[in-house]
Amino acid sequence: MTQSNQPMLEIRQVSKQFGGLDAVKEVNLSINKGEIFALLGGSGCGKTTLLRMLAGFETPSAGAIFIDGEDISQVPPHRRPVNMMFQSYALFPHMTVAQNVAFGLKQEKKHRLSKPEIANKVSELLSLVRMQDFAERKPDQLSGGQRQRVALARSLAKKPKVLLLDEPMGALDKKLRSEMQLEVVDIIEAVGVTCVMVTHDQEEAMTMANRISVMHEGEIMQVGTPSEIYEFPNSRHTAEFIGSVNIFDAEVTQLETHYSGLTCSDFTVPIQVEAGINAPIGAKLAVAVRPEKIIMSRQQPEAMSNWLTGVVEDIAYLGGHSVYYVKLSNGKRVMSVGTNNDRHEQKVTWQDQVYLHWSNTSAVVLYQ
Ligand code: ATP
Repeated sequence: MTQSNQPMLEIRQVSKQFGGLDAVKEVNLSINKGEIFALLGGSGCGKTTLLRMLAGFETPSAGAIFIDGEDISQVPPHRRPVNMMFQSYALFPHMTVAQNVAFGLKQEKKHRLSKPEIANKVSELLSLVRMQDFAERKPDQLSGGQRQRVALARSLAKKPKVLLLDEPMGALDKKLRSEMQLEVVDIIEAVGVTCVMVTHDQEEAMTMANRISVMHEGEIMQVGTPSEIYEFPNSRHTAEFIGSVNIFDAEVTQLETHYSGLTCSDFTVPIQVEAGINAPIGAKLAVAVRPEKIIMSRQQPEAMSNWLTGVVEDIAYLGGHSVYYVKLSNGKRVMSVGTNNDRHEQKVTWQDQVYLHWSNTSAVVLYQ
């Protein structure tokens, strides 16, 4: 099943105050059916509070939440068509895998299921998460990844319209994390459930989500696909939060049809970016360039713009690629990434003077 353009979850002007603190500020989001949506942000940005309001564990101070067109703001947690998978998984230690998955189904009051119906449903869910051979084990006889799959099966048992994941990979080690990220996405997509996940890990959000909202101090800074957020950040905060970036403070000096020009004290030549700067001559802005967009050379580029020179101060060898830290004459450090695809190539090394160059289309202008 794939995502549609029909909204499943709508968050309208939702705020939450704790005493005098604005934990969540006037958040508006529309999340489509079948979409995997990530709330991403640093510690204390309000992402868990927002998730808990969706689950019904917190009441909004203002605003409303709609699921499938119905206002659920005043509906208690157990009556909402949502289910939350907690970071700890919260499996019952004394119950087997099958009993854990069956637990929610047995509580069902409205459409009481017969024993064979529950058994069928449990076996269907365990096959979905590839845990059918572990039905009689207890949670402490499972690996971290297996426990997570059981927790996922249990959260999906009652067919929620929206599945909420709180730091879903938080309890797993790094290697298992990347395997489970893809596996969890496959399962969620196979079921077609709409999913909202909270994470502080940008790689996790980029790998798992169709769209990401970056939060900061209770506000949504930007919403977009992983590549939109990475390639076109709309603020310094998002540019710095997602991946590595070089940021230059600059002033607009030229607005031409095909390009715009800026000056910056770090450069001896102007900066040029694609046309379409939304600011007048003289405006003070920032220009962001990702390290992998920068080409490093020993020769001075022929171009009349977009290059700097400095001395290699540090090199971080990371196997597939290296990060070069180049110190400019004013002391500022600029990062450039080079791939290590030739073992015999004569590499740039410490204290070499180098030139860093990029194209007009590689830089992003940041207005805030
Ligand atoms: P983390 O990644 O550290 O969990 P977060 O982005 O999930 O952070 P929240 O847990 O939503 O952040 O908290 C947002 C702000 O609200 C924080 O300043 C936090 O201290 C505060 N807060 C959260 N819950 C409560 C509460 N029950 N009472 C008072 N303040 C709270």
